[in-house]
Amino acid sequence: MKIVRVGAYRVDLPRERTYRLSGGRTSSSFDTTVVRVESDAGLVGLGEVCPFGAAYLPAYAAGARTGIAEVAPHLIGEDPRQVERVNQTMDMALKGHPYVKSALDMACWDLLGQAAGMALSTLLGGRFGDDVELYQTIPHGTPDAMRAGLVEARAEGYRRFQPKVGGEPDTDIERIIALAAERRDGEVVVVDANGGWLAHEAMRVVGAVGDLDITIEQPCATYEACLAVRRLTDLPLVLDEVIDSVEALLHAHADGAMDAINLKLSKLGGMTRARQIRDLCVALGLPMTIEDSGGGDIIGTAVAHLAQATPEKYRFGVSSGFFKVKLNTTEGAPRIAQGRVSAPIGPGLGLRLRAETLGEPVVDVT
Ligand code: MG
Repeated sequence: MKIVRVGAYRVDLPRERTYRLSGGRTSSSFDTTVVRVESDAGLVGLGEVCPFGAAYLPAYAAGARTGIAEVAPHLIGEDPRQVERVNQTMDMALKGHPYVKSALDMACWDLLGQAAGMALSTLLGGRFGDDVELYQTIPHGTPDAMRAGLVEARAEGYRRFQPKVGGEPDTDIERIIALAAERRDGEVVVVDANGGWLAHEAMRVVGAVGDLDITIEQPCATYEACLAVRRLTDLPLVLDEVIDSVEALLHAHADGAMDAINLKLSKLGGMTRARQIRDLCVALGLPMTIEDSGGGDIIGTAVAHLAQATPEKYRFGVSSGFFKVKLNTTEGAPRIAQGRVSAPIGPGLGLRLRAETLGEPVVDVT
């Protein structure tokens, strides 16, 4: 099987509500890119990449499309089923820029699954459990508003919550105390600073909330600052933004720097690299939040497959956000039931493209 055509499409993805991180970082819609990889066997693989704006990770939507235009000509004639070869070809064509390669890699996995007649979750290791538990993000806000957000999410069936902190430390301490007071047995509260605290601010916060039953995620922007905080607290700690490669993971693991990581497909370069990190984490005994920086039906479906193919014990969380937006370009994506989703069982991603919704391609390479 050979790749004969690669197309990329810009799609505006509305969010259910405005998403707020600390430091005034907000998002009410996403500029997402859908990729369509066509094979000479008449099969079409789908991929998607959706950076969270241009200032969250070193990635932005127009950059994804420019990079796809750069890489795509090198993929014509390649066998999409040979995913490691495809990745080597992409790495030879463009150094770095993992997010550019993520959607192309995802589309090749979709083609591999379709060609094999197997669901992606089967190819990624098999299905663990009937479905996958999701967590609900709680936007950065006042302590009362965030506490109300947790109560609302609980009513929707969630038991795992990710409140956004990383703002002014005294107010963050109030936020965390309010959220911990609301937490019930069996519920998990992961307060995510998204790197928003300086080291001395994070140290004040963990010192003040150290006896509460909460988990801290990515307290500071740099790895060294996160490690300094880690050495001052017994609270469980998740690293997210700084774990962007195998090297970063192994370095942090050797330092005992975290109890779990956040694995985002596009941050690592797609399914092939995410699978590698997933397998390493299972071997090292590290649970993972499995997700991406943003996206709609296609990314959500890919995330659901990887999560369902990961033993439950190693699933620290999966964001509900991907399953709440209607990309409207596909049919068959997982839908939320009581805070859980199940990956499709059809071949590949298990999605059907509604081609008429895509509009004109911004990249079209044959
Ligand atoms: Mg995070």
